[in-house]
Amino acid sequence: MPRLEGARMATERMKTVTAEYFDTVNAISACCNEALLEEAVAQCADYDALLSRFVPGSDVWEINHALGKRVHVSQHTATVLSLARQVAEASGGAFNIALGTLAALWAFTSGRTRVPSSEGISTALANTDCTLIEIGPGWVKAPSGMQIDLGGIAKGYIADRVADFLRERGVSCGLLNFGGNVVTIGKNIDGAPWSVGLQTPGGAAGRDFWAAVECSDATVVTSGVYERGFDVQGVRYHHILDPRTGYPVQNGLLSVTAVGPDSLVADALTTAMFVLGIEKGSELASRFGVEFAFLDRDGCVWRSPGLALTICSGRR
Ligand code: AMP
Ligand code: MG
Repeated sequence: MPRLEGARMATERMKTVTAEYFDTVNAISACCNEALLEEAVAQCADYDALLSRFVPGSDVWEINHALGKRVHVSQHTATVLSLARQVAEASGGAFNIALGTLAALWAFTSGRTRVPSSEGISTALANTDCTLIEIGPGWVKAPSGMQIDLGGIAKGYIADRVADFLRERGVSCGLLNFGGNVVTIGKNIDGAPWSVGLQTPGGAAGRDFWAAVECSDATVVTSGVYERGFDVQGVRYHHILDPRTGYPVQNGLLSVTAVGPDSLVADALTTAMFVLGIEKGSELASRFGVEFAFLDRDGCVWRSPGLALTICSGRR
């Protein structure tokens, strides 16, 4: 019986809260009191109110409505935009935060299930040159008409910040899952590394995993076709857009995972790696020193040798 009692105590020490921000359900689990978890959730709300293009008055909303004028922004926003610029450059434009008009046209978050007209897509592709975004000390300026969308990067930054907040408050065991952006704090409650499941595309959310990554104090970020999108005549139209064509990337990939110390970097990278495909995407990951795994529609897996990945049975 002592073992069972120990297990029960461990479960009771681990608390979880969930909250809907950034258009997704976010779960924060940690060995701490509930009041601290509620503070962490309140931080999610604050970051959402800063970085979401949908929240009137957020930094991103102000930039998108400034008609080309300078906007004063917080250090958080400047940090995210600077890293976005770095990954945009390193990926040859595959990662592009200036696709807001295009993302609004596809409208995956609203449940739209119709492919936009090619004319609409061409129009939405105008004004998407993210190299024209200027970042100065405490301010940002984007060309009039450009719509910035941090959907491919903000969750990673926020997960980092909230995890740091919990660490500073003494949490040594926790796991944050912000819609595919996982950050682990320390080891799991048994003192072993966390085992983070990678969602099977098309499988039951949160229950069906094609692989697991072992890690502690690390981030595991996945971009996949299954997160948002719709199917028309056997074609999957999903939310990762090719900035050159304006259409969802169709390169045979189902998901891309990056594992490293920094969720902001990993979030931007997985989106970029998805657009670039296996060869160029793995080069990009290596340049940033992150481990990775690509899963394609035939069930084949391409991974970096240093990744602690256990593939579930039946996969190659
Ligand atoms: P993720 O799930 O991190 O790969 O992010 C996908 C989200 O990023 C989409 O829902 C869009 O908001 C945005 N996005 C789509 N395509 C791109 C792209 N090529 N570069 C940057 N952000 C993108
Ligand atoms: Mg991303």
